[in-house]
Amino acid sequence: MKKIAIYGKGGIGKSTTVSNLSRALAATGKTVMQIGCDPKADSTKSLVGGKRIPTILHTLKEKKKSTKLEDIMVVGDGGVLCLEAGGPTPGIGCAGRGIISAFELLEELNAYEIYKPEIVIYDVLGDVVCGGFAMPLRKGYSDEVFIVTSGEMMSMYAASNIAKAVRQFSNREYASLGGLILNAKNIENEGELVKKLSTELDTSIIQYIPRNPIVQKAENLGKTVVEAFPDDEMSKIYMDLAQKIIKEENDNEK
Ligand code: ATP
Ligand code: MG
Repeated sequence: MKKIAIYGKGGIGKSTTVSNLSRALAATGKTVMQIGCDPKADSTKSLVGGKRIPTILHTLKEKKKSTKLEDIMVVGDGGVLCLEAGGPTPGIGCAGRGIISAFELLEELNAYEIYKPEIVIYDVLGDVVCGGFAMPLRKGYSDEVFIVTSGEMMSMYAASNIAKAVRQFSNREYASLGGLILNAKNIENEGELVKKLSTELDTSIIQYIPRNPIVQKAENLGKTVVEAFPDDEMSKIYMDLAQKIIKEENDNEK
């Protein structure tokens, strides 16, 4: 089982990238589990027809000890196993705490053993990696972290902070930095800017994803691009990213 976490500045395109990656991995025959670690709980919506699924935190509050895996997991497009950690009402309680409770419940319910996902992807909100939002970095949860960034200053600043946090935690107990995913915003010299950042962070750009209106077109249909427009150039890009993740999985097993 390979477990990866995707971080990046708010609104940069994490959920879009993760959902398309999950769907692309599923298209190669992999069993994929996507866990949204964002109180907004909208990570998986383009895999489930644009709707919201029950969050782990909310279900736990209602059903307490009687919560079952079927209550919190929805099988999305391509068979992707979709989960949302959820979070407290804004202003009340710590958002990161929701992630910790969700992770504890998944372990208690033996989610990984029962569904045997080959790839688990955490979609994590946060320009800062603190408290519960650092949880997916811990060993046992994810092996590798990828950071989505564009060439915009604030997004690269967030990427740099996240990378530094990953490095700081970095030891055998924690996840390592797998690389950057450039989700383009069509900024001038964007490729060069992000390349320079990757060098500074001693990492690489593992995928370039162009800005393309077909992403919104698919989103409006409540779908991923890979599901709605499988023959489009953009789907090929997400498939390419999926292949790189699979290759890494195989290399690590050698
Ligand atoms: P948040 O931090 O709020 O969870 P996010 O990082 O998950 O945000 P998304 O919700 O995935 O970001 O994307 C934000 C918007 O950008 C969406 O409307 C999405 O359709 C659009 N978007 C993402 N990537 C691309 C792309 N490559 N081309 C065009 N639009 C894109
Ligand atoms: Mg998101």
